[in-house]
Amino acid sequence: MEILSKRIRHLSESATLEMARKSRELKARGVDVINLSIGEPDFNTPDCIKTAAIDAIHSNHTHYTPVAGTAELREAIAKKLKTENGLNYSAQQIVVSNGAKQSIANAILCLVDPGDEVIVPSPYWVSYPEMVKLAEGNMIDIRATIDQDFKITPQQLEEAITPKTKVFLFSSPCNPTGSVYSHEELKALAAVLEKHPRIFIISDEIYEYINYKGKHESIATFENIRDRVILVNGVSKGYAMTGWRIGYMASTLEIAKACDKLQGQVTSGPSSISQWASLKAIESMNCVSEDVTEMVNAFSERRKMVIEKLNKMPGIKSNQPEGAFYIYPNISHYFGKTNGSMRIENDTDFCVYMLEKAHIAIVPGAAFGNPNCVRISYATSKNILVEALDRMENALEELH
Ligand code: PMP
Ligand code: GLU
Repeated sequence: MEILSKRIRHLSESATLEMARKSRELKARGVDVINLSIGEPDFNTPDCIKTAAIDAIHSNHTHYTPVAGTAELREAIAKKLKTENGLNYSAQQIVVSNGAKQSIANAILCLVDPGDEVIVPSPYWVSYPEMVKLAEGNMIDIRATIDQDFKITPQQLEEAITPKTKVFLFSSPCNPTGSVYSHEELKALAAVLEKHPRIFIISDEIYEYINYKGKHESIATFENIRDRVILVNGVSKGYAMTGWRIGYMASTLEIAKACDKLQGQVTSGPSSISQWASLKAIESMNCVSEDVTEMVNAFSERRKMVIEKLNKMPGIKSNQPEGAFYIYPNISHYFGKTNGSMRIENDTDFCVYMLEKAHIAIVPGAAFGNPNCVRISYATSKNILVEALDRMENALEELH
């Protein structure tokens, strides 16, 4: 008899976390590895947020909170959605979780029955397929090519819909491509979804603030589908708070209550201290906005530099990311090439070659839906990025 359940045996390890782990292990062995695998801001959490957490401890905000989050934080999130995004949600429609990751998992588990189809534009974030698998749903991916800036068309969405479709799940700004859907593009997708009232939309907006294009656009803006949108966001990326583990979702009361019930049996509410820190972040744009702007400007400069350098490397093709802090170049030109005993046949070989030869950690593209690509995170300092890309260029030159 197997010890571990089928559920866990069939689940893949997160490729982003796996590469981050491998690079940490090599580093511990004294290898000078540059880690461009994991996506997290290299900036520190702004001071006033840290102070709010320390104050929370001294004020004994150290007990269980309500499962869906403190009343104060849920109110602040509802207010943020109103003032920044023009969306009307009551505090009761908000559920705070241990990161946006848990919010997405909650929503999938509350909506998807075995055999239900979940449509996901590809490239997609690495954890979506595994979360759908946990819910025993079937993921249907719609392939978006680099020539369409990795964004799906309304026709593609329409064609993927079947009587079994239950959820449409996507991120904009997108991890791994950095693609950002415009207001018009979202409106066109909403028009398709309007015709299919059984379909729910999970809109992952965790990169809201990391947007080089301008104002953030949410698919929840469209009244015709608004009641079927589960909006997911959090503090990890925008406020450099990845380790605090606070994300949230906003939806109809029915779905919010279901997620509250699920979370109540699995994790309870997230850390009380992190919730008070997140309240400060969300409520006090005035004390953190400078830090956020500084961070986003730095990402923007790095993005420009990374695109320029990658464009100069023979055979590498990339799009122009408009948000997040990743680039997802096509590296298939190098398939079939060798350097001594090292041969590159696929995206994983390419990443292993880069790790062993150039000591840089990047993630194979197949984990995000396209095995001709790799994902590079540029959420690290400019000097380190220059060094990493120089190393990559040298390693590529040695491939024949
Ligand atoms: N969605 C996307 C697209 C992400 O890149 C991440 C990053 N981990 C998450 C969700 C989860 O974020 P969190 O740290 O809030 O769980
Ligand atoms: N979202 C980040 C990434 O894609 C963090 C790692 C993860 O949670 O998988 O690298």
